[in-house]
Amino acid sequence: MRIVLLGAPGSGKGTQAQKLVETYGIPQVSTGDLLRAELQSESKLGLRAKADMDAGRLVPDELVLELIQRRLEKDDARDGFILDGFPRNSSQARDLENLLREIEKPLDAVLLLDLDLDVLSKRLTGRRTCSVTGKLLNIHFSPQEELDACIAAGGELIQRADDNEETIANRLKVYQEQTRPLIEFYGSVDLLRVVDAMGAVEEVSGRMQKALDCL
Ligand code: AMP
Repeated sequence: MRIVLLGAPGSGKGTQAQKLVETYGIPQVSTGDLLRAELQSESKLGLRAKADMDAGRLVPDELVLELIQRRLEKDDARDGFILDGFPRNSSQARDLENLLREIEKPLDAVLLLDLDLDVLSKRLTGRRTCSVTGKLLNIHFSPQEELDACIAAGGELIQRADDNEETIANRLKVYQEQTRPLIEFYGSVDLLRVVDAMGAVEEVSGRMQKALDCL
């Protein structure tokens, strides 16, 4: 199964992608994660992406395309993948179409995680990752036991560098201006399935499952 997860920053793409990985046994391909790994290893590509990432802007298309191409060539992506955070503008959507046409593996569906703007903002400002378990948590929404469990395990609740208020505002603006138009594009080619992203993780993943069952 080849899926794109579309949705604003904070709509839960990363969390839901992890659920789909468990269900379908196909990898999550997140351009944000790939870029952060490049940054961490201080590669040339990572260093070129850094200023844009810090400011909440999109990094140049050719950089993400290179990362996506490299990632989709790997063996584990042969039977499918979940694209999380790519494409993010029309030009990337066209690049993806061309790339998948070349390897004769078209998309099966694009799932839009649909959520209100003020909930999005809280999800982003409250988002943390446990430094020990890697679990994604939220100081506004996660059960206190889960937050405490991270600390009890000797971990810290780490906030992503680009989850500060100024960058968040920028990322939401970029989404509205550049990524939202993809909803219409994927609707017009009959790939779009809209999923209500409000509610608990399990509720949303149930809805996603339903949307994918009919494929
Ligand atoms: P994410 O983890 O998906 O929220 O991405 C974090 C940051 O990485 C974004 O704010 C962008 O700066 C950059 N980024 C991730 N995916 C893309 C993409 N498809 N195109 C351009 N920039 C991206």
